[in-house]
Amino acid sequence: MRIYKVGGAVRDRLLGKPVTDIDWVVVGATTEEMLAKGFRPVGADFPVFLHPKSGEEYALARTERKSGRGYGGFTFHASPEVTLEEDLIRRDLTINAMAEDDQQNLTDPYHGQRDLEARLLRHVSPAFAEDPLRVLRVARFAARYAALDFSVAAETLELMRQLSESGELEALTPERSWKEISRALMEDQPQVFVEVLRACGALKVLMPEVDALFGVPQPPAHHPEIDTGTHTLSVLQQAALHKQPLTVRWACLLHDLGKGLTPEDEWPRHIAHEFKGLKLIKAVNERFKVPRDCQELALLVGEYHTHGHRALELKPSTLLELLQSFDVYRRPQRFEEFIAACEMDARGRKGLEQRSYPQADYLRGAATAARSVAVQPLLEKGFKGPELGEAIKRERLKALKAYKETASI
Ligand code: ATP
Ligand code: MG
Repeated sequence: MRIYKVGGAVRDRLLGKPVTDIDWVVVGATTEEMLAKGFRPVGADFPVFLHPKSGEEYALARTERKSGRGYGGFTFHASPEVTLEEDLIRRDLTINAMAEDDQQNLTDPYHGQRDLEARLLRHVSPAFAEDPLRVLRVARFAARYAALDFSVAAETLELMRQLSESGELEALTPERSWKEISRALMEDQPQVFVEVLRACGALKVLMPEVDALFGVPQPPAHHPEIDTGTHTLSVLQQAALHKQPLTVRWACLLHDLGKGLTPEDEWPRHIAHEFKGLKLIKAVNERFKVPRDCQELALLVGEYHTHGHRALELKPSTLLELLQSFDVYRRPQRFEEFIAACEMDARGRKGLEQRSYPQADYLRGAATAARSVAVQPLLEKGFKGPELGEAIKRERLKALKAYKETASI
């Protein structure tokens, strides 16, 4: 049997990037031989094994043929006769379809190295169209390598457009889609992921609610960039620049969805867009079975981001309602993430990227003030049940009134 490094490890070494996980392909072996050498099988469908010591993935060289809709509709053929070239041709991009032996000899039948030099993301063969997930993968790689000036080859973008129009994207499982979306959002330039999806028509299929924001104007006084789609991408970019976690990035992407519902005769104003957007945020959350913490933050940021911006003008009672909505007493971290998303929203505007955001510290101070109300003295006074709840609320309100007064001096 012959063993080669493949995929990301080869690509990233040639790019001079750090290699984290290594994928291997094994040519000329059978499952029985792998098991005899101590490899542990993983997955029922794929002939993939884990190395007994390193735990790295070793896959038998295989060919694939599409036999139906979706990813389940694939048949695999792995046998000792399958060649390295046959295995490489089923891969998505030429830069991912190179292999290397233990002497660092490169096998590159589809000119991945040429495309690396030309900074092009190009599909290997027309079989690219057999797995619609590749549309998301290409967009993700475009985001990852944007800083190196990579772009999607014109013929690949055309194929992605055909795939998006064919209805195949709808066959993707939420789990596979979310894995790509979440990884793409954690790249340094996540906005490029959205731009590429939009350029090939996939955004309209996957997240029509986000696609609808492009072409919707906002008031130039607050939004010099005017376009809501442009604004959304800038907010996402700010979130990445400030190294925000996935929850915040997801909330940034969805915070203004309600603006896509505003009747044109109300443009450029968007009255109550925060509330109107909630059902759209919920729909996107459910479509991709998004993890609970991301779902929750997106809904809260959608509903309350304008409160964040107006923090210094809010009445103490409104401030208290805001803190209660976030359950800031038990979930302080979530409120921090809300503040971060608001700040990214404020900075994701043309020419305002460096502005200060005093609302952030003001909100933190308000949370601290409300949290400082001690329950014990109220218990000692004999408050119980709903009355205790009311008494705590009154004390918190008092604390917020005092906080607002001192903060405004
Ligand atoms: P990363 O650095 O993100 O891990 P990678 O290129 O190693 O990048 P993997 O998802 O680990 O990506 O996949 C390993 C290799 O398997 C890819 O380089 C590609 O050749 C191939 N591959 C993975 N998923 C697909 C797919 N859906 N369609 C075609 N080829 C794929
Ligand atoms: Mg990999």
